[in-house]
Amino acid sequence: MHEYDLLVVGSANADLVIGLDRRPGPGETVLGSDLEIHPGGKGANQAAAAARLGARTTLLARVGDDAYGRMLAEAQRDAGAALAGLLVGPTDTPGTVGKDGIRTPKNTGDADGVEGKDAPTGVALITVDAAGDNSIVVSPGANARLTPDDVAAAEALFEAAAVVSLQLEIPLETVAAAARAAARHGARVVLNPSPPARLPEDVLALCDPLVLNEHEARLLLSDGHTLGDAPEEWATALLALGPRSVVVTLGAEGALAAGPGIGPEQTDGVGMVRIASPRVTAVDTTGAGDAFTGALGWRLGRGDGLEDAVRYAVRVGAFAVTRPGAQESYPRAADIDNSTA
Ligand code: ATP
Repeated sequence: MHEYDLLVVGSANADLVIGLDRRPGPGETVLGSDLEIHPGGKGANQAAAAARLGARTTLLARVGDDAYGRMLAEAQRDAGAALAGLLVGPTDTPGTVGKDGIRTPKNTGDADGVEGKDAPTGVALITVDAAGDNSIVVSPGANARLTPDDVAAAEALFEAAAVVSLQLEIPLETVAAAARAAARHGARVVLNPSPPARLPEDVLALCDPLVLNEHEARLLLSDGHTLGDAPEEWATALLALGPRSVVVTLGAEGALAAGPGIGPEQTDGVGMVRIASPRVTAVDTTGAGDAFTGALGWRLGRGDGLEDAVRYAVRVGAFAVTRPGAQESYPRAADIDNSTA
C-alpha cells in the first residue's frame, strides 16, 4: 500500500484579482475593485482538490519564504494535503519537517550563492473586466526554481506515491525528471500539458493519461494535422503521439476518455467513450480543469480504471463550476456522493 494516493509536482501561485470596468491603456491609471488574494497555481489546485476529496496527497512545489508562501501552505493544510513536499525559501531541500508541518529555510540569510533559489512565491496578476474577461500576468518566481535536483532529493515521495500528477507551470526539465522518477518507482503518470509545450517523447510515452482541454489539444496537434471538430478525431491523433491514454475535457459537455480497454467498441484493444457532465449552472469555471485532474489522479491512485475515474472527475469538475473561486470551490467527497448526477 502506498503512503500517498497522489503526488502532485507543480506550481503554487498567489492569485491577485482586481475587477475593473476596462483595462488601462499605456500610461493610463484606472481604479478597480478591492484586491482579492487566493491560493492558486495548477499544482496547488490539483493537490487541494484531491486532498479535499479525501485523497492522501502531497505537493512537491517551491514557494518563497513570504506571506504568500505561508498562505499557500495553509491552504494545502486546510484541504488536508501533507506538506512533506513543500519547499520554502532559498536553501530548503527535502528532509525534516517542522512541528507545524512546514519546512522552514535552513539558511535564509545566506541566499546569494544558493543556486538562485531565493525567489518570491509565484504570483498571477489577474484583472477581470465588466464583460467577465480575464487578463493574466504570471510571475513564476519560486516555481521557476523547482529543479531536477529537487526531484532527485524528493525521491522518497515518488516511491511512496501510486500516481504522480504533472502540469507545465514549472521548468520542463523538472517535469521530465519527475515523470522519469515516477516511472522508476512504478507510479502512474498523469500529465496536463498546460501551458502547452512540446514534451520529450519518452515523457509523452509515460502519460497514462495525457489530460487536456480542446485548446491544448489543438495546440499540441498543430503540426501536420488538419483537425475537424470531433473530439474523437483529436483523441486518435493524440494517441498517435505516444501517450498510453488520453482524456480530453470538454467543458459543459464533460470529457472523452481514450485508450486500451476503454468503451464498448475497440480496435486493437483501444477504444474511447464520451462521458457527459451533469447539467449545472456555471458560476465560475476558474480551476475546474484542475479539480477534474486532481480528482482523476486520486481515483486512479485508489485503483479505479480510467473510465470510472473520468466518470467521477466530471462530477467534481461540474461541482467546482457552481461555486466562485478555484480551491474554495472544490467539493468534499460527501458533496459528490450526495449530488444526484
Ligand atoms: P479551466 O481552464 O476553466 O480550469 P479547462 O479548460 O482545463 O478548465 P474544462 O474542459 O473547461 O477544463 O472543464 C473541466 C471539467 O469541468 C469538465 O470536464 C467538466 O466536468 C467540468 N465543467 C467545466 N465547465 C462546466 C460546465 N459549464 N458545466 C458542467 N461541468 C463543467
